[in-house]
Amino acid sequence: MAGAYAIIEPSIFANLKSQDEDSWFNRPMRWAQLTLVENDPGQFDPDFWLSYFKKIHADGTTLSAGGVVAYYPTDVPLHHRSNWLGNTDPFGYLLEGSRKMNMSVIARTDPHAARQNVYDTHPDWIAVTADGKKRRHWANKDLWVTCALGPYNFDFMTQVNKEIMERYQPDGIFSNRWAGHGICYCEHCRKNFSEYSGIDLPQNSNRYNPSYQKYLEWSTNRLKELWIMWDGVIRKEKPSSRFIPNGFPDKVVTGQLSDIVFTDHQARSGTTLPWSNGKVAKELRASIGMKPLGGIFSVGFEEQYRWKDSVQSEAEIRIWVAEGTANGMRPWFTKFSGVLYDRRWLDIVNKIYQVHYRNESYLRNISPMATVGMVFSEQNRNYGGEIWQQNNGDHSLGMYHALIEDRMPFEMVNDRLLDAEHLKAFKLLLLPNIASLSTEQCTQLRKYVEGGGSIVATFETSLYDEEGRRRIDFGLADLFGVSYDKSIEGPMQNSYLRLKNDPVTNQFHPVLKDLEDAYRIINTINQVKVIPRASFPSPVTLIPSYPDLPMEDVYPRTPETDIRELYLRDTGKARIAYFPGDIDRTFWQIMCADHGRLLRNTIRWALKEEPIVNVIGPGVIDVTVWRQKDSMTVHLVNLTNPMMMKGPFREFIPVDAQVSIKIPEDVKVSGVHLLVSGKKTDFKNNEDKIILNVSQIHDHEIIGVDLV
Ligand SMILES: [Zn+2]
Repeated sequence: MAGAYAIIEPSIFANLKSQDEDSWFNRPMRWAQLTLVENDPGQFDPDFWLSYFKKIHADGTTLSAGGVVAYYPTDVPLHHRSNWLGNTDPFGYLLEGSRKMNMSVIARTDPHAARQNVYDTHPDWIAVTADGKKRRHWANKDLWVTCALGPYNFDFMTQVNKEIMERYQPDGIFSNRWAGHGICYCEHCRKNFSEYSGIDLPQNSNRYNPSYQKYLEWSTNRLKELWIMWDGVIRKEKPSSRFIPNGFPDKVVTGQLSDIVFTDHQARSGTTLPWSNGKVAKELRASIGMKPLGGIFSVGFEEQYRWKDSVQSEAEIRIWVAEGTANGMRPWFTKFSGVLYDRRWLDIVNKIYQVHYRNESYLRNISPMATVGMVFSEQNRNYGGEIWQQNNGDHSLGMYHALIEDRMPFEMVNDRLLDAEHLKAFKLLLLPNIASLSTEQCTQLRKYVEGGGSIVATFETSLYDEEGRRRIDFGLADLFGVSYDKSIEGPMQNSYLRLKNDPVTNQFHPVLKDLEDAYRIINTINQVKVIPRASFPSPVTLIPSYPDLPMEDVYPRTPETDIRELYLRDTGKARIAYFPGDIDRTFWQIMCADHGRLLRNTIRWALKEEPIVNVIGPGVIDVTVWRQKDSMTVHLVNLTNPMMMKGPFREFIPVDAQVSIKIPEDVKVSGVHLLVSGKKTDFKNNEDKIILNVSQIHDHEIIGVDLV
């Protein structure tokens, strides 16, 4: 099946380290992608594009080479030369022009579709639907969808990759839509899956179906095999060159196999929040470390109707890219079609790239400096079937949003990378309903706490093992100090949280800051019933549900209980906070400010120290902090906008902020710059901090702090 090419683990190759400054992986800071359409050759002006790349200081480019259409005079049988190609070689021309400007060059292929002659010659290369029919392309009825896991990719595309490498020696080959589109029932997939698993292909992609879970395991392995095989062929022609998949289903494997990674999260659609681009960057960085990470952004709308030639507003494009840059991604614009219709985006991308180029040395990050880590999970596809587990992703969205509202710098943490090395930067870990944790993962978290690390966890965290089997008790029961009481309550109508001061000292616990006069706030929607195994303070207790109609009946039947809704404890140097309620998910769904405050206060209490950056002032600002060789930077992305929770930004609403930044002990500050606006700034030293005012932040300001 693997054709003439053996499977070779990449580690045996002489390995250029991705962080080497001069490697082609690390050198480019700004990428430009031109995806040609079939009738571009002879019609578009390649010199216009080369001069645009030069103008915007792009230092890496991705150019259309082959796959469904070849943009060079290919000799691979069935590799379709553009009908407009004639005797030209637009890929070769653009590649040479880019090389003359010292750009890194990646060749782009797209293997997901093929023509009738491919179908006629190799019908077994075409994907098959569940009812046994060859699969027509959903968007273009002249084309067929190819099988990603059979000989079309393993044999035919391998020849294409080899030819591109032999003739042009690009720095890498980037493959779009290489991983298939749903389950393929072709003869190869049926046979290979049955040999692997002993069962037939699943009839649907219901994620709770065990045979579908097996299918995901098999197809992921098969794609990994394909990746390693193509990578081997590519490196054989040029050892520094790489295969770069556009997406792979497993982030940990992505980190193991890649020297450079690109995210394909091009713009928002529907109600995607603008910080979503930063979240994608954080999740990948948690899995790939500081390997170069490019953020592909389109300049158009990303909606189901696929207006691929559209152009968005300037504010929309800028805020999306700012989120990526603030989170350590290197911008990569992508444009489809060499002939331009709406040219408005050209100036917008130029502006973004000029600011980036001017401040490049402050954007070559060595490491993030945030000390708060939020755990996310890719494991356990079994979890989520119960009624109280629906919209499970809302837990992390709510926690993420609470952190953004608090302007808290934080990183994401991959739950499969909880070893001491990956956790050493963090003083606090957040576990937003990380329900499935293996015994080993629980042990890793216990060690983290023994070493002084603190934890805030919610709802069913650790109540299931990695396979999704419910435990008798929480895997982290000893850390939480509570045990599972065998039921989940909810959805709860008209229930409240009673907020109380300490009866002995008369003081309010710090988790109740700005809630001192509340007496009570709304409860979460669902909660885990638990039995405390230790003694706890009781700043937050339950007021059980009571009737909400008729209005005459709306009075609490049990106005006070001693059932805690937040379990707070000190253990050694660590602090542990456990919410039995789904406060993070409820916050996301209801957006009650009180829940945001309670989460903020609890996170700050558990952190036990001031965050590395504090930002005071109005508005919604995403804050990230980075270390470079001779500096540190604080990124402020201004998300303040009436359109923030829905559609595209129309304009910016500038805000002022007072920022205090903790300076590492071993260095001194020699200068402070506002890198985006270029405005002069004064700063005050205050013990281990500097304090400065930043006025009129539009989309993005970067505070550059020179260190000696
Ligand atoms: Zn197939």
